[in-house]
Amino acid sequence: RQLFRLNEIVEKKELAPRIKEIKVYNPRIAAKARAGQFVIVKVGEEGERIPLTIADWDREKGLITIVFQEVGVSTYKLGRLGVGDVITDVVGPLGNPSEIEKFGTVVCVGGGVGIAAIYPMAKELKKAGNRVISIIGARNKDLLIYEEEMRRVSDELRITTDDGSKGRKGFVSDELRDLLNSGLKVDRVIAVGPAIMMKTCADVTRPFNVKTIVSLNSLMLCGMGMCGACRVEVGGKTRFVCVDGPDFDAHQVNFDVLIKRLNAYKAEEQLALKRFLE
Ligand code: NAD
Repeated sequence: RQLFRLNEIVEKKELAPRIKEIKVYNPRIAAKARAGQFVIVKVGEEGERIPLTIADWDREKGLITIVFQEVGVSTYKLGRLGVGDVITDVVGPLGNPSEIEKFGTVVCVGGGVGIAAIYPMAKELKKAGNRVISIIGARNKDLLIYEEEMRRVSDELRITTDDGSKGRKGFVSDELRDLLNSGLKVDRVIAVGPAIMMKTCADVTRPFNVKTIVSLNSLMLCGMGMCGACRVEVGGKTRFVCVDGPDFDAHQVNFDVLIKRLNAYKAEEQLALKRFLE
């Protein structure tokens, strides 16, 4: 049996331009990981801590799968590591596992990189005996990831692209609206992707009174409920995504606060990336 070092990258794949999948050796996290949980990763001793969803795991081999998009300094740094490199720190599994039960018919909606995060949920919901209808979408066909993975764990897979280069032209929320309008009885909707997509999906399901869960992607530092950086407003109360979530009832989330806080450091993030890439 091949021996790996803790947090060693043992596989790396480019799924789409700037979207990478890595398999990391960490048997303890792999042993405990459940759908909906995440890890906090740090590259370099002085590196920034960033939360990333655990997309998959192999308990026997001790591997976890992480999918990330290179958008800022830290994800670029992570993207530069190759097979055989060791990630400085990987903490997890963090966050509460998603609620997995037999609900009936569940619609799993994944937008962009969020598809990799919805995948373990769809997989476990299918295993629990649900009828899983998945809707996945990306800006264009080249950015669509995990199509085969999602097909394997779904009873039905629907695809959208913003530009119409694959599947239905439009947003995942458009397909969700049509599905609900068709009169199909849906017991639960789970949506993961950009905040604006989750907000739109919540607006779509509200009039149908379908319980809707979203996995929030707020900025995060400690990941264990101490620092408060990831605070969001849910049902009029302050909640921490790391220890109270990341899954919340979409109809209770104040998405405007989430979006505002996600954009709070945009200028600094862009400047830091510019300096890093120079
Ligand atoms: P993107 O901007 O390419 O959008 C992906 C899809 O979301 C689009 O194709 C569309 O179907 C839908 N969408 C976008 N804007 C919409 C709108 N206004 N209304 C309705 N639907 C809309 O997304 P990206 O660049 O891949 O970004 C992925 C996002 O997912 C990031 O913001 C990341 O933080 C988030 N994410 C969240 C988690 C989590 O656990 N919550 C995990 C991974 C990624």
